[in-house]
Amino acid sequence: MRRMTARPANAHQARLLRLLRDGGPNSRAQLGDQVELSRSKLAVEVDRLLETGLAVADGLAASRGGRRSHNIRLAPHLRFLGATSVDVAVTNAELEVLGHLNHPMDVREGPVAVFEQVLSMAAKLRDSGLAEGFDGAGIGVPGPVRFPEGVPVAPPIMPGWDGFPVREALSQELGCPVTVDNDANLMAMGEQHAGVARSVGGFLCVKIGTGIGCGIVVGGTVHRGATGSAGDIGHIQVEPAGRLCACGNRGCLEAHFSGAALARDAETAARAGQSAELAARLAAAGRLTAADVAAVAAMGDATSLGLIREGGNRVGQVIAGLVSFFNPALVVIGGGVTGLGHTLLAGVRAQVYRRSLPLATGNLPIVLGELGPAAGVTGAARLISDHLFSPV
Ligand SMILES: [Zn+2]
Repeated sequence: MRRMTARPANAHQARLLRLLRDGGPNSRAQLGDQVELSRSKLAVEVDRLLETGLAVADGLAASRGGRRSHNIRLAPHLRFLGATSVDVAVTNAELEVLGHLNHPMDVREGPVAVFEQVLSMAAKLRDSGLAEGFDGAGIGVPGPVRFPEGVPVAPPIMPGWDGFPVREALSQELGCPVTVDNDANLMAMGEQHAGVARSVGGFLCVKIGTGIGCGIVVGGTVHRGATGSAGDIGHIQVEPAGRLCACGNRGCLEAHFSGAALARDAETAARAGQSAELAARLAAAGRLTAADVAAVAAMGDATSLGLIREGGNRVGQVIAGLVSFFNPALVVIGGGVTGLGHTLLAGVRAQVYRRSLPLATGNLPIVLGELGPAAGVTGAARLISDHLFSPV
């Protein structure tokens, strides 16, 4: 097996590769239906892709009612690596997750420690026989990224990462091209590729983890803004004289509600004797996490349910503003706190439906992401494949 050495030579070839990625194996006739090329020109471009080895003729054409239909597919040995600050996965060229490892990492430990962990997880996936090597890797980080250089810029919850050449450093270690993006953007791309936002052209994907970010998809494409920081909603002010945020300002959304804020509020409530269940967990573990709050809430604990509902209201206020501004067709809520599930969702929905106008909310689904932890890594693989399946 050799690694991907060729790239599409023109926009037609790039388009054909993306069609094969998104739609799986296709016959020449089916491909012809989707691109505006004459039959002879299509044949030339498909033959070139076969010559480069990026696509192969699939001899095992599945017969559906005796009809041979599938005969071109992406090279089956192509492998992409997708990594966020918690998950590392390997996919094939059609972005199916073949193997997925999850290991809690603290980005505050700095790039060197986190990269060591990511590289050892990648090696583990490779050595388990899922890949001989990687043709490209997509990396998500929980902070603003200058795109396309792949450099985090002053990320509030990632001290030590400012200006670190993530793309260059990992590309050298992995020996393949690397793209880097904000992890909320990647989650949006993942849900768009294989999850709840499939076939939705304009939507918002709000990622609630340690911090809060929002992927903005317009016309099927992630909108990153002029410098790459679009969707950085965690630092929108929700309380004029509110809590101090990691960014140095007061009253930011994520200072009041995020995985970290929820854990801290739960600890305060436990110490104040407001919840016996939370207090028991705090005594046992020495600290609480958002997952603890979710677990205790599922048992019916009123304090935990109240914290989650209040958090949903906070995020909902901000999302209501975004809905009025952007008029999305769908709002997806994802990230580490989706374990908070329907209580959180109910709080968000109540605020958005109350505050935004009927024309914006009349047909607006607000839903939890479908892919869970696979959303970020699928989006990461999609990002690098978009890069590789572009004309050189
Ligand atoms: Zn802030």
